[in-house]
Amino acid sequence: MNTYDVAIVGGALAGCSAAIHLARHGFSVAIFEAKAYPHHKVCGEFLSPECEVMLNELGVMADLDSLLKRIDTAEITAPDGTTWTTRFPGEALGITRYRLDHVLAEHAAHAGVSVFEKSPVSAIEGGLADGFTLHTPNAAFHTRAVIAAYGKRSNLDRTLNRPFLNKPQPFVALKNHFIGPALPRRIELHVFPGGYCGMSEVEDGLTNVCLLVRQDTFQKHSGSPKIEDFIRWMMTQNPRLQQWLEQAQQVHSQWLSIAQVPFVRKEVIHNDIVMTGDAAGLITPLAGNGMSMALHGGKLAACYVGDYLRGDVTALDAYALHWQKTFGGRLRMGRFLQMFMLRPAILSPGLKLINAIPLLGQYFVNQTRS
Ligand SMILES: Cc1cc2nc3c(=O)[nH]c(=O)nc-3n(C[C@H](O)[C@H](O)[C@H](O)COP(=O)(O)OP(=O)(O)OC[C@H]3O[C@@H](n4cnc5c(N)ncnc54)[C@H](O)[C@@H]3O)c2cc1C
Repeated sequence: MNTYDVAIVGGALAGCSAAIHLARHGFSVAIFEAKAYPHHKVCGEFLSPECEVMLNELGVMADLDSLLKRIDTAEITAPDGTTWTTRFPGEALGITRYRLDHVLAEHAAHAGVSVFEKSPVSAIEGGLADGFTLHTPNAAFHTRAVIAAYGKRSNLDRTLNRPFLNKPQPFVALKNHFIGPALPRRIELHVFPGGYCGMSEVEDGLTNVCLLVRQDTFQKHSGSPKIEDFIRWMMTQNPRLQQWLEQAQQVHSQWLSIAQVPFVRKEVIHNDIVMTGDAAGLITPLAGNGMSMALHGGKLAACYVGDYLRGDVTALDAYALHWQKTFGGRLRMGRFLQMFMLRPAILSPGLKLINAIPLLGQYFVNQTRS
């Protein structure tokens, strides 16, 4: 009963994308998701223009369409007021992860995938030669292949002894929803010393407010209660942030937070397990491309795992190469641009330069997408 061709650990964008593609090709697939649907998640909830095609391919657009906010402009501000505005080549989308992940999981189940909620995987044993055994609190499952789509950082990274855990990851991220002044068709990214805060509209009249900050900055400016003190300090560091947040009403009493956000290089195959989405590599949020990479990466993983299961023993090495070729460059560019964002003193002249040479700005945007 507990035997599948493929087990997918993590039932969000990368996991559901991989699962739906594999199920359509006739494989028996199980998703193990640690939480119950729906749930909130630390994320800017901004889907870059490439995502619509992929969501269409997964067959979920009809269920999402009435909820989606359409976005075509991005605005970045430095603390001294310097601003850069750019138009996207297509329409980006805004929707909460609360809704998006749930709709994807429902479609996976509809495609024939066994979706196990509240089923955190605590250990993965075995390998491709003799198959894998996955342990959840209630049962053990046997599979021929495993796709890890469990996100940027999971208890499993420790269990699997992944080397990236030994590298410094000095970032904290926070997210909340607000009801505030309209931001029609645009996403705003406001920089403050040591971090940046994005805001864009999602469904139900809400605006997502999500920020990334260096851990030392966060610790220096937070007290008790920690997060509220930090937010008060952050507001004083960029007039646009202050102006908007002062007019807005916080929706959830508690901010969602995560620490040790890892933008470091990871292995794409580890112990014969196929990593995808953030488990394979997390792009800096300023690129607004992580969800696109997760949907795309999930499809790539499904394609190569499918080839492996049909007898191509080189398929997983080919997946690792394809993944690096597709996403490696944008991960590096994201890290490089984030270095600028975190230093307002060089950000302002940088924004003035790309205002003077618009093609340069367009070049940087393109490099975070291809
Ligand atoms: C601050 C911040 C803001 C961001 N903003 C944006 C943005 O606006 N636009 C964008 O495109 N990207 C953004 N990103 C990136 C984006 O959130 C991720 O790239 C995307 O969520 C990756 O999807 P995923 O499916 O790989 O992982 P996740 O969405 O993290 O999902 C992983 C799933 O695995 C489950 N899980 C974890 N461990 C286990 C386990 N042991 N067993 C079973 N299940 C498990 C989790 O519960 C979770 O549901 C942002 C990232 C950060 C840090």
